[in-house]
Amino acid sequence: MEFLVVAAASLMQGVCNNLSPDYTPGFIHSLCNRGDIATDLGAHLSSGANIWVLGSSNFDIATTRWSALDAPNISIVVEVATEDDVKYANPNNLPFLAYSGGHGAIETLSGVENGIQIWLNQLDSVSISEDSQMATFGGGVKSKHVTDALWAAGKQTVTGGCECTSLLGPGLGGGHGFLQGWHGLISDQFVSLNMVLANGSQITVDQDSELWWAVKGAGHNFGIVTSVTSKIYDVPEDGLWSYKSYFFTHDKVEELYDAINRYLLKGGKQPVDLINYSFFFNYPDVDPTHPLIAFFILRQGVEAIEEKYAAPFDKLGPVLSMSDKGTYNDLPMWTSNAEDSPPCQKSGLANVCFPVDLQTYNPTTQRLAFDTFSNFTQKYPAFNNSLFLFEGYSLQGVQTIDDESTAFAHREANLLVAPLIIYQPTDKERDAQGVAFGEKLRQIVFQGSGQDEMFSYVNYAFGNEGPEAWYGYEPWRLERLRSLKAKYDPNGRFNFYAPFY
Ligand SMILES: Cc1cc2nc3c(=O)[nH]c(=O)nc-3n(C[C@H](O)[C@H](O)[C@H](O)COP(=O)(O)OP(=O)(O)OC[C@H]3O[C@@H](n4cnc5c(N)ncnc54)[C@H](O)[C@@H]3O)c2cc1C
Repeated sequence: MEFLVVAAASLMQGVCNNLSPDYTPGFIHSLCNRGDIATDLGAHLSSGANIWVLGSSNFDIATTRWSALDAPNISIVVEVATEDDVKYANPNNLPFLAYSGGHGAIETLSGVENGIQIWLNQLDSVSISEDSQMATFGGGVKSKHVTDALWAAGKQTVTGGCECTSLLGPGLGGGHGFLQGWHGLISDQFVSLNMVLANGSQITVDQDSELWWAVKGAGHNFGIVTSVTSKIYDVPEDGLWSYKSYFFTHDKVEELYDAINRYLLKGGKQPVDLINYSFFFNYPDVDPTHPLIAFFILRQGVEAIEEKYAAPFDKLGPVLSMSDKGTYNDLPMWTSNAEDSPPCQKSGLANVCFPVDLQTYNPTTQRLAFDTFSNFTQKYPAFNNSLFLFEGYSLQGVQTIDDESTAFAHREANLLVAPLIIYQPTDKERDAQGVAFGEKLRQIVFQGSGQDEMFSYVNYAFGNEGPEAWYGYEPWRLERLRSLKAKYDPNGRFNFYAPFY
């Protein structure tokens, strides 16, 4: 028996006995018609697990994704309830995919045809160690649950900035977050991971394991993580954070990005406790003919953003400015990344990203990118909910880790930049138009950067960038990944999320 899946024979048999011919796809019939499969799928599943087929009550909830473009084709969902559930062999060699937060949007996911989705939503436990230095998290836990559970104990750790993504979806590809300036990436916090490999075996990966290097940046390609133990930290200064935000009109592009370079990024020396973040977006109530630029300064440990950081941006004359103080827990709400914020919703839209890492802003290029974004979204209203994101996290904690020690290769990048093309999918022509638009915007900022090689954060990737852009251009990196792959997943069962074969 070759890879993993889980399910209980009794449940599976129940599903097979109760399938309605009205809604049951041929795939399920063929599955159910083979008693050996029902038997092989069963017997090991815990009582809390479920199997959902098309038409059953939770199938849509389980399979709805953040982006409707290039979604995997799922025929059956196995909702696991225990770590052991995620190990049963599937004798039929069906493709399978882990699902935690459902925000994975890379186009390589469309390679899943008639697949089994392993839904990890019940694996959401958080357990703090006795010495309060570590916590163990279930393999499907979401960022918000991590933050809230740790907060209740006066603790925190690095998660993605968005409440609705999981810990491990981002973490296995590196994982950027608000606390990375102090502690490094999400994956830099890993102490050990329990994983189920392609052959169905359960292993623990830690610093003494061959896979340790690979799971920190290319982990989606090697197994399903059923739980992870990570470092946690005391919440400092009562968790105090503050922010100041600005909306700028189209005439401020060059001055704004020049000021960010000068006063915040400072050639890669942005203070550890400061984050800057901006995006282009359309807001016709304020300007019906051009996009606006939203810009945020976030800072830990202060009651208000100090004059020395705010003054250069105040001077630019925003159309609107807001500020507040609160705690670390308010950051997702302030930045529109909370569970109820628009970016967290799974509303049937295509959400396609075209990431490129930058070191600094080229104000001339920012102008060209802005005008291109503006002209296109004005001309084609179907795309006018799109955003162009510019994230400037602090980097000290990321860069104290030797970049050869992890598969995550891009520790020097100061800025995560990504057009996010958002539209209601209708046909292939619109998809192609959206892709061409996103790629054009990306190429503008890349060409303007003067960089020779394009780095694309794997968790934001569209899918056409290629393994070097995701995992690094030094030949030894892909050689090492491929060698590990040949040993741990020789048949390429984990080849749907940014593969490197
Ligand atoms: C609104 C939004 C905000 C974001 N913010 C951030 C951010 O702040 N920082 C950041 O780094 N990224 C961020 N991302 C990108 C994010 O890292 C990816 O979208 C990631 O794929 C989301 O993981 P998920 O579990 O939510 O999605 P899923 O689609 O469930 O998972 C993505 C892939 O991860 C793998 N996977 C998931 N769980 C496991 C597991 N337990 N074991 C093995 N493989 C697993 C599977 O291959 C799966 O296809 C953001 C994305 C969105 C949409």
